[in-house]
Parts: sequence; C-alpha cells; structure tokens
Amino acid sequence: MQKHADFKDFTLITPTAAIAADQHGGRAKCLQRLIRLDLPVPRTVALSFAVVHAVAAGQLPDTKQLLGLFAEGALVSVRPSSQDPDWGGPGAVLNIGMNDARYVDLCETMGKPAAAALYARFVRAFAIHVARLDPDEFDLPAHPTPDDLSAALAAYETETDSAFPQDPAQQLGEVLRSMARTWESTTARLLRQAKGAPADAGLGLVVQEMAMGVGAAESGSGVIQFVSSDTGEPGVTGRYLSQSQGREALSPNAQASYLTRDPRGASLEELCPDIFTQLMACGDIARTRLREEMQVEFTIDSGGLHVLDAVRVVRSARADVRIAVDLAKAGIIPKTEALMRVEPRALNELLHRQVDERAKRDPIATGIAASPGAAAGKIVFTANDAQASAARGEACVLVRRETTPEDIRGMHAAAAVLTERGGMTSHAAVIGRGLGVPCVVGASEIQLDARQKTLLTPDGRTFREGDTITIDGSAGEALAGEPKMREAALDDTFRTLLGWADEVRDIGVRANADTPADAQTARNFEAEGIGLCRTEHMFFEGDRLTVMREMIFADSSDDRRAAVDRLLPMQRQDFVQLFGIMRGLPVCIRLFDPPLHEFLPSSRDGMRDLAEALGLPLADVTHRVEALSEFNPMLGMRGVRLGISVPEIYDMQVRAIFEATVEAMQQGIDITPEIMIPLVSAQREVELVRSRIDAVAAAVRAERGTNFQFKLGVMVETPRAALRAGDIAETAAFLSFGTNDLTQMTYGLSRDDAGRFMSNYVQQEVFHEDPFHRLDIQGVGELLSIAAERGRFVRPEVVLSICGEHGGDSLAIEFCRKAGFNYVSCSPFRVPVARLAAAQVTLQDDGNIKAFDS
Ligand code: PEP
Ligand code: MG
Repeated sequence: MQKHADFKDFTLITPTAAIAADQHGGRAKCLQRLIRLDLPVPRTVALSFAVVHAVAAGQLPDTKQLLGLFAEGALVSVRPSSQDPDWGGPGAVLNIGMNDARYVDLCETMGKPAAAALYARFVRAFAIHVARLDPDEFDLPAHPTPDDLSAALAAYETETDSAFPQDPAQQLGEVLRSMARTWESTTARLLRQAKGAPADAGLGLVVQEMAMGVGAAESGSGVIQFVSSDTGEPGVTGRYLSQSQGREALSPNAQASYLTRDPRGASLEELCPDIFTQLMACGDIARTRLREEMQVEFTIDSGGLHVLDAVRVVRSARADVRIAVDLAKAGIIPKTEALMRVEPRALNELLHRQVDERAKRDPIATGIAASPGAAAGKIVFTANDAQASAARGEACVLVRRETTPEDIRGMHAAAAVLTERGGMTSHAAVIGRGLGVPCVVGASEIQLDARQKTLLTPDGRTFREGDTITIDGSAGEALAGEPKMREAALDDTFRTLLGWADEVRDIGVRANADTPADAQTARNFEAEGIGLCRTEHMFFEGDRLTVMREMIFADSSDDRRAAVDRLLPMQRQDFVQLFGIMRGLPVCIRLFDPPLHEFLPSSRDGMRDLAEALGLPLADVTHRVEALSEFNPMLGMRGVRLGISVPEIYDMQVRAIFEATVEAMQQGIDITPEIMIPLVSAQREVELVRSRIDAVAAAVRAERGTNFQFKLGVMVETPRAALRAGDIAETAAFLSFGTNDLTQMTYGLSRDDAGRFMSNYVQQEVFHEDPFHRLDIQGVGELLSIAAERGRFVRPEVVLSICGEHGGDSLAIEFCRKAGFNYVSCSPFRVPVARLAAAQVTLQDDGNIKAFDS
C-alpha cells in the first residue's frame, strides 16, 4: 500500500498559517502576503520543500485529503514555488480534476466550446508534462473544439495503452510527482546552479483552486504591471485575453486587448471599467504594502476578479534604479533600503551602451570581459589604421594579439578593442577601462594573421579588415555584425541614488585618471580626487614620444637632461590642466613607472622610422633596443629603480609638478600635490628619491618666490614593500596599494599572460576567481593587512588607499574599509559603482542602517 506523507505537510494558506519562504518557497510566501492584503486570491494550499522532496522519492501526500480542502468538484492548478523565483522550476499545470464527468457538468454551466477547450488543454498538459508524450501528437488550435478534445483523448489512449485518468486525486498525485522529479533532474539542477542556486535548493509547490477564465459571462485572464520593465517609469503595461487562462494573453499570437485605453485597439479599461479600477487598486496595495513593484497575474471569472499570483516585476538595471529611488521618494522604503536594493555591478549597464538583451547575438569569440559596454565598428589590425579610421569618422574595432603603450593612440581612436592575449590587468584591459572603451582580452581561441589582416574564429569563420563586428565588453564576447544597442542612461534617478550613497559611505572614492579627459570623467562621476595619475601615458602623445626616444638615446647625462628639458613644459601643462579640472580636489601623481624599452619600436619598420627621425644609423637603433631589452622587464629596471638610475626623469617630473602647482595657486586653486613613488621595495629608495625631490622643491620655491606644500607617498606593490611598510612609512605620508603588481608578484603570475590559462584554472577551482579581477583576500589581502598595520604602527596618521584595478570592486572595498583605509581609487567609469558599493558595505556594518534611517 502506498505510504502517505503527513497531512500537516500541506498547509492551507491563510493570513496566519505558518508559511516561510525558506520552507515553502517565494511564491507561497508571496501568495500569503496577498491574502493578508485581502486581495481576491483563490484558495491555495502550499507543499513544503520537504514534502516535495519526499514526493520525488515516491512518497505521495494524501491527494484526496488535499483536494478535500477545496470546494466540491473544483479544478486546481499546481505551480512551482522555489526559494528564489530566478531559480525557475517546472511549468504550471492547470485544470487538474477535469474528467468526463466534469466535462458534462461544465458543458451545462459554461457551454460546450469552453468546457471542451479546458478539457483538451488539460489532456495536452498532462500528456506532455506528466506522461512525457511527444508534444507534436497533442498540437491544439487556439480554441480547441469538442473534436479536438476527442482527438487528444484518443491520442493519449493510443500512446499509453490506457484511458485518460479520471480520478482527480490520481491526476493530482501524478502531476505532483512529475513536477517534483523534474526539479530533481540533473539538467534542472545544473541550470539553477548556474543561476546561483545551491546544489540542494528545495522546491515548494502551490495547489490553487482554478478561477476558470472561460465561460459565458466576461471571462479571461491577463497580466498587469504598473511600471515599465525597461525604464522603471510609471505606466500600466500588460495584456488581457478573453476566454483564456494562465499567461496566454502574453503569447505573441494572442489577439489580446490592451489594458488601458489605446488607439490601436480594444482595452480592458473600456471592456470592464470596474475590474480595471480594482486592478489599479491592487497595484497600489502591492506597492505600498509589499514595498515592491509587482506584476500581477489575474483572471476574470464570470465578471469577478481573481488575483492568482504576483511576482516582482522583471526589470533592466535602469528600471531597477528608478523603481528603488521612486519607492524611497514616495516614502514606501527608506533611502538606505533603496541603496541596498541596487546591485552595484548593475550600474555598469547604465554607464555604457550595451547590446540590447532582446537582440539576436552571433558570437564569434569569447574572452575576459575586461572593460564593460558594447560598441561596433569595422575591424582594423593596427593602431595606425585605427587612427586613420577615426580620422575618416568611421567607427573601428582594434584587434591585436595584445596591446602595448605604442597602441595607446590607436586605442583612443577605436570604438572597442579585442585582444588574443592578456588578463584583467593587462595593458589593453587597464587602458580600456580607463578610457571607457569596451574591451575583451584573452580571446585565446581566435587566430590573427596580421599580414593577411584576417581573424579566424574558433567556428572556422574568417573576418577581414573592414568587416563589422561588435565587442561586448560586459559579456566578454565578440559578435558578428552590429546588433541593436541600448544607450547609457545617466539620468537624474541615477544621480539621486549616488547622492544618497555619498551621504552614507565612510570610505573615500577617487579615480585613476591619466589625462585631462579622464579627469573630466572623474569629476562628472563625482570622484573625490585623483588617486593615481600614471604619468608615463602622457609621454606617448604626439611629439613627446620622439623627444622621449631622444632622451633614451642620449649618451651623457647632459644630453639626457637637454632632452628631458624639452619634455618639461609639456608635462607642466599636463599638470596645470589636471589641477584646473580637479579644482582643489587632491591629485596623486605617480612618477614614471614602465621600463624604457616600452617607448622603443619593436618591429623592423618601426626601428627604421626611428633611425630616420633621429638621424642615426639603423644599426645604432637596433643595438640600443637590444641593450635595453630585459628577460623580465616587469621585474627589471622600472619604477623607482629607473628613477634612481636615470634621475633626470624624476627631476623633470617633480619640477613640472611644482611649477604647475605654483601656476595653479596663482589661478586661485588651492592645491597640495601628492607625489607617489612606484615599485618601491626598500626604504633607502624612498630616502634617495625624497632628497632629490626636496632639492627640486627648494629650487622652485626660490626661483618662483612662492611657498607650496606637497605630500610624498609610496606605492606599495611589491611584497617586500608590504612587509617593510613600517620603515617605509617613516618617510611616506601615504601608502597606496598597487594590487595589480602586488597580485602579480604575490602569485608569481604574469598579469599579461594569466589570461591563457585563467579560465581553466577557475574552472578547475585552483583559483576561486581570477585574482586580477577580484582581490585575493587570503593571500594578497593578508599582505595588505600586514602593511596597513605596520605602517599605522609607525605613523598613525599615514593615509592608506588602494589604486589597483580592484579598487572598484565591492569585495575589495569591503576589505579596505574594514582594514581602516582612507579611500579606494579606480577607473573613472567605475567610480559610481564604487560609491554605491562603499555605501552598501557601510550600511551592512551592524547598526549603521538604523543610524541612517533614524
Ligand atoms: C598596480 O600595480 O596596481 C598599479 C595600480 O599600477 P600599474 O597598473 O600601472 O602597474
Ligand atoms: Mg604597478
């Protein structure tokens, strides 16, 4: 004999019944809320996760007893109720209880066509979802007739060798078992795990009395919501279809009516004005009492309204922000809750153009999503071609094996960048994010032929120069052609939310900005200053590259100084501009960092051009390029090591900074520049640089007859600097953690090559995530904590910050805040995300929410 689960395991949903989302699922809980609000919800029974799990294992509840909770002869539906609606679940089955006897009754009460349609639809659903028969055998027209019903019943009998089950309790039992088993299948489990569900996520089921939606008086079903899913703006959307059930009104071919009056056709507002008014009231009640914008599924049954279900309105990131802000403005939720509701990373979607989620995508390559946003353009394979293309006013996508500083102007000119190599902090990625140019790096399965100017995709297609492709830097994909885009939406609502975030957060947010354009973006996004200005980028501009190269080729210190002196006015002008744009906000300038060979050409043609420009024999040029080449340039003569070995560069840079300071002060700008030394590993390095900087400062003060202040700090990006932060802090007013290099050196993992195996490593769970993308709290984080503690011990007022790419990431922001850092600094386009994330981590701290709300 069949064992039954306990009666207590199904629960009639009443206002006071013990229903919990973590036992019965989100739908059951939401239905209870609707019932508590006195909305006209048909009688509903909830089955808990435990019961459904037992059902999957063959232990059915007493379905006869269950049906006894409904009116005699009622038809019922069963719907899934998972803990999080996003995890999905098996499709709903309607009209359970329909059989030959009910058919006869219903032919009398609602007419034969309606009764036949109901029965035929149920036979179809049961055949497909429960008996798992071929759907093609059970095709039905929009309005099934009695003949269609007979055909469906006959098909069922032929396919199963048995008559269609007539006992409602048996029907219900089989539906429950089939839904429970579907949930526990491997495919369904993998699918929901991909959406973030735990492996053992439970499924609840709700059994609800059917409101028919078909019958003699006005009957039908529909779906209504009160805001736009795209923009979040108020406005009724949805459809209503007479003589229908479930969500049929939304199916593309349905001849459904509009809800509000509409010049294009009939509307529910005109057809049933009273019902429409009741529905609008439901929207108000749901908004104010559930504190959310809900989509309501309703049925009209012989002129009466029933609310079958309500779910949170599906929404774009833009709508998400708008809804949260509007609810807070209406006083329905506190501002702090609005802040907590918006996912910071979703703001990325608003800051950049995106591929419209409804557009058809034709992916040709995948890689690391290095810089968000999407842009289309014609393929070019060199930085020069990118510039030529921009000069013609043609959007282009720069496709490179990897980019180097030489490509920077090409990147400026390109609408998007795709590289075969690289990781989250490789050159293309960092520059792409800084410029706000969509970028996919490490697309290792593409094959580039620079000579033939072709790109071969993993699926065997060849793209040539001039072919149009789209880079989706948010998804990490390159797409063929140009799908429809969705524009950036930096509207007032967005600004309002970020204004609230600023009121709440207690850790600063600055931007990494190298150029005046970056600085302007940083200001537009309301950064509190520049946390990292990588000065070397300024030397790749226009004529400067040539002067830079002359400096590199100089044979004596005097010649070097002469070349560097020509760079001085240009560099001074850069800083005057930056100070002007930032108008008194702090600006932290990092002295020259890269190895010199990055300024030299790598190709033979480039070397020939350079020999011509400098009037040198080609052999001299190749010789010098060879002499400067290093086995491990990133661990070689760069950063402070270069600053100490070739002091003319730092002398010139600090002079430019101080002269620009004096000029800015004369313009009424109050500025105390911050100067940062890169790649330090020993205190002595800081002392040596400090004494030269002090000498330049004294000279400029004397020459200009003006006093000014500056702050000298150290970029902590080698493990040794982190460990020795105590001594380093003696000579440094601030320590800024360069987590890109620090991650590279902590792991001994090249930031430029990691892309080759990173996805494999993450897939095999060697790394939980790409450590260049998300701060490695356990390893790199420990170095940060040690350094912060040792630095603060020696100099309690030392200013601590992070300026690696992790600075814009919520996890790193949370970590830095806990470690007592003063600010984070990130690419200008990540500033809004960081402002919101910083507010959220502040609010998450115990007690803070209450403090802000009171
Ligand atoms: C770093 O290393 O984290 C950093 C910010 O500097 P860069 O990326 O220029 O090496
Ligand atoms: Mg660095």
